[in-house]
Amino acid sequence: MLQLWKECEGAKSIAISGHIRPDGDCVGSCMAAYLYLKKVMPQADIRVILEQPSEIFSCIKDFDKIENDCQTELAPDIFIALDCEKTRLGEAVALFDKAKKRINIDHHISNSKGCGDVNYVEPTASSTAELIYTVIDKEYLDVEIAKAIYIGIIHDTGIFHYSNTSPKTLQIASELISYGFDFPTLIDETFYEKTYVQNQVMGRAILESIIFMDGKCAVSYVDQKTMDFYHVTPKDLDGIVNQLRIIKGVECAIFMYEIGVQQYKVSLRSCKYVDVSKVASYFGGGGHVRAAGCTMNGSFYDVVNNLSEHIEEQIKEHEIG
Ligand code: 5GP
Ligand code: MN
Repeated sequence: MLQLWKECEGAKSIAISGHIRPDGDCVGSCMAAYLYLKKVMPQADIRVILEQPSEIFSCIKDFDKIENDCQTELAPDIFIALDCEKTRLGEAVALFDKAKKRINIDHHISNSKGCGDVNYVEPTASSTAELIYTVIDKEYLDVEIAKAIYIGIIHDTGIFHYSNTSPKTLQIASELISYGFDFPTLIDETFYEKTYVQNQVMGRAILESIIFMDGKCAVSYVDQKTMDFYHVTPKDLDGIVNQLRIIKGVECAIFMYEIGVQQYKVSLRSCKYVDVSKVASYFGGGGHVRAAGCTMNGSFYDVVNNLSEHIEEQIKEHEIG
């Protein structure tokens, strides 16, 4: 078993980073690793470098210490890449390349080998945060670290709901809540709560959604014009794909938003049998069996057609087999 303090022993500088468009697991695991290593190695220069996460995560201690600008002149002794592989590090990849030692901790099935000198990639884990729990020395665990790990776990499991939730996930969660933070508020404020305008955009996306493949597939999208009209950014669109997924009869949900001319960020979700990681990987993305994503080019209809071909193949295979 990997022990994070041992892997970092003697390092004077450590850079921690995760994927672009950081989600709850990415922010939670980066901050948990940061808070833990700061405690274990108070003399070391430890930084978290991430694209600015949503303000909902500002309840995590030292959230304001997250750096968005990657100081590319730095060459850290250790670079820790969390919840992703090298290709999704964004600007922080410059530091990854220069670091003396790279540690990769991830749970994406699409990151099969790991990109570090030291790799801990466990696709059966609910979240990278769950893996952070397993690599830290529990003597140092405190309420703030527990909270950061808990946030990572709840976000990637949909509050212990998705099939990636294991008995171990729940055992870890029970350990974490024993530290006494206000988890009901944390769940409401970081997961369920939406601003009025976020609800409006979601309502509109659902209203304009299309179901096809005999009701087994649901798709919707939000274009740049709509995002500008409501003054929303991609962070405000979280949860829409999940709302599409829980339409009765739907196996696979597709949600996309425009990120450029004829370019879309695609989110895929499935309920029982479609492996969306396989679909997303085909188009250069990745993720998990039940939740994955990719970036695709073309018109909305081109993108839907291309995705449908792969989804339909799996649905047919399932129906025959
Ligand atoms: P979401 O749809 O919430 O953006 O992402 C669902 C899952 O797929 C997350 O675990 C996320 O990290 C992963 N994912 C989303 N987009 C991409 C992508 O473009 N490439 C890879 N490798 N993974 C992605
Ligand atoms: Mn994750």
